[in-house]
Amino acid sequence: MAKGLEERVMGLIRGDRLVRRGDKVMVAVSGGKDSAVAAWILAKHAEELGIEVALLHLDQQIHEYSSDARKTVEKLAKQLSVPLYVHEWRKEWGTGLGEIAEKLHKAPCHVCGVLKRYYQNIIPKKLGYNVVATGHNLDDSVGFIINNLINGQIEYIAKLAPMLPETELTVRKIKPLFWIQEWEIRKFADEHSIPYTNTRCPFQQFAPTYHIRRSFDVVEEKRPGTRKAFVKNVMKLARAVKKVNETKKPKACKYCGAPTNGDVCAVCKMKIKLGLEPGKIVLPEVMKWN
Ligand code: AMP
Ligand code: ZN
Repeated sequence: MAKGLEERVMGLIRGDRLVRRGDKVMVAVSGGKDSAVAAWILAKHAEELGIEVALLHLDQQIHEYSSDARKTVEKLAKQLSVPLYVHEWRKEWGTGLGEIAEKLHKAPCHVCGVLKRYYQNIIPKKLGYNVVATGHNLDDSVGFIINNLINGQIEYIAKLAPMLPETELTVRKIKPLFWIQEWEIRKFADEHSIPYTNTRCPFQQFAPTYHIRRSFDVVEEKRPGTRKAFVKNVMKLARAVKKVNETKKPKACKYCGAPTNGDVCAVCKMKIKLGLEPGKIVLPEVMKWN
């Protein structure tokens, strides 16, 4: 019989050494099924893996979508009995994502992506966690590859992996669901009554990868295994083209210490543009349950 989802995820965690004993892992949870399942599996196996697990939720303040997401992650954290940190963007930016993007004259999905990557590194780092786990799945990787091919950002594709090791400036990034398809995750979440919300981000239809991802549903249906083979072979290709792996070593942003190719990171630049104080991070307070 084919291996179940949990077994395959644990196989990746152990086989690729995604975590080590003593690691402090923050799972970035959106309220959606993917990160909920990643959190559920990591929390369930925390003791045998010798790791500590906490959840981090970024509250973008996108009206109903965010309040729904927030309630769901609180439910999840309580069910798993793990601490939850909620970072409210309004506290640092004075407003929610929609308005931040508007003021910057940028697409909301672009700003959201930049900020999510930023906080998913800087918050764990500042709170003493050395690993961040996300719910990225196989469908995400397909969308990511094709989108970057279209945009000519080959060097990003070279970085696609279930784990990016920690560096001086970044925590280790792990994707326990890297080889799992979205439909399998939904099924698993439903079978195990893992709390998640189906409320979609109102900006989702503008996300560049959305339609690319869905178009693969047809291909996968006709030729099961296509997604996995596609991602595997693109990773092989990226390794073969050695040059693309020679990425520049990033420097530390002079305001906040996050990695950047210049002197000031993209997020601090946004803050300067909006008249906010660069480098000032409002750290979330912990919620604990017993
Ligand atoms: P996305 O960027 O929406 O495709 O989400 C990819 C992963 O980022 C999710 O599986 C989560 O692990 C994480 N993530 C997305 N949104 C949030 C959020 N609001 N707060 C914390 N983590 C998030
Ligand atoms: Zn910065």
